[in-house]
Amino acid sequence: MIWADEETLPRHEMEALQLKKLKETVNYIYSNVGLYQSKMDAAGVNPKDIQSLDDLRKLPFTYKADFRDNYPTGLFAVEKKDIVRFHASSGTTGKPTMVGYTAKDLGNWLNNVARVACMGGATSKDVAQIAFGYGTFTGALGLHGGLEKLGASVIPMSSGNTNKQIMFMKDLGTTLLVATPSYALHLGEEIKSRGMDPEKDLNLRIGLFGGEGMTEAMREEMRKVWGEDFFCTQNYGMSELCGPGVAGECEALVGMHINEDWFIPEIIDPVTMEVLPPGEKGELVITCLNKEALPLVRYRTGDLTRLFYEPCSCGRTTVRMENITGRADDMLVIRGVNVFPTQIEEVLFDIPEIGPHYEILVERVNHLDVMTISVELVDDRLLDSYKLLSELGDRIKNGLKAQLGLATKIKLVAPQSLQRFEGKAKRVTDLRKDGI
Ligand SMILES: [Zn+2]
Repeated sequence: MIWADEETLPRHEMEALQLKKLKETVNYIYSNVGLYQSKMDAAGVNPKDIQSLDDLRKLPFTYKADFRDNYPTGLFAVEKKDIVRFHASSGTTGKPTMVGYTAKDLGNWLNNVARVACMGGATSKDVAQIAFGYGTFTGALGLHGGLEKLGASVIPMSSGNTNKQIMFMKDLGTTLLVATPSYALHLGEEIKSRGMDPEKDLNLRIGLFGGEGMTEAMREEMRKVWGEDFFCTQNYGMSELCGPGVAGECEALVGMHINEDWFIPEIIDPVTMEVLPPGEKGELVITCLNKEALPLVRYRTGDLTRLFYEPCSCGRTTVRMENITGRADDMLVIRGVNVFPTQIEEVLFDIPEIGPHYEILVERVNHLDVMTISVELVDDRLLDSYKLLSELGDRIKNGLKAQLGLATKIKLVAPQSLQRFEGKAKRVTDLRKDGI
């Protein structure tokens, strides 16, 4: 099912709609947000200069640092009395990123989330268990509101408390799980360890995953845990843009459709800041259209992806973004080679003897970068055979060497011995910060 007519507009109609909204947005920010007025004045650009979609690139970028520098509400275009909801995401340094919504913003946001839930196969018949942490994080209340709008029965479980998750899942016949992919895998393992078969003993049929990226290998792992018929999609968003609801995968699983009538995407080279042609990989930059409380123009998301404009078999005409392959700032540089944790994950998931959890440790030994990857064995009997262990270690090393062009150290550890995460998994520890 397709939720909104705008998702199937012919390209020229979509672009006309985007241009109309872009002009309104630029006029609005210039009159209502001091930072935009001064940035635009400094760049020598006036709202009247925006006459085509290509004119978007005349506008200055907005950065995460702009939120920090204008904390808490300096980027807001309305007064506090017009805000009906605040959300915040944890900042990496000090203050959180504060965002707000007017009543109209909230309605638009949840409609966009409903679209994304529909793309992932959700219907009004679903019983939806939300295993994201509630609180100021946009993920839980965003999916909660969007799924309610769709007419689904929503269980606001929040994260953690695995026993209760399983009990509700069984007793209420949960059909749809909202979680991070790593928590969904963890939950599946826990269910199996209690002697239950997720496929036979539960009704779960759909996963709507977000909060962190999911590789194809992880999706495959998901089917092993939850059953062949389990269908899971990921969706994309971030609190600065609204929260979830920016983009989502449809049944064709060929990237995430962006809700283009609300978000204009661009891909830029993160170093030169040039706009790249369709199909090229670079940093995603998003302009939000017609947001009242917190308008955002050319926001540097830091996420790396590419855009595809070819038609999709699902019937939607909106542009698709490739599933995120890394963040500009997640990239590790090991002995001069760029490495994304997702590349390592792709290799590990293809090896049946090891489980889906892993940890990466990077340190500097004798002036050289050394990367050690700890992975869990599926069967601890392997620990008794030095020959089998060393053969497996070599196979992993060779796979990684072929993928990354780098030698790595592999540590094989007992099943269930690595740390589990109920939210976003923290898999990389880089000890080189103070090293020489
Ligand atoms: Zn599609």
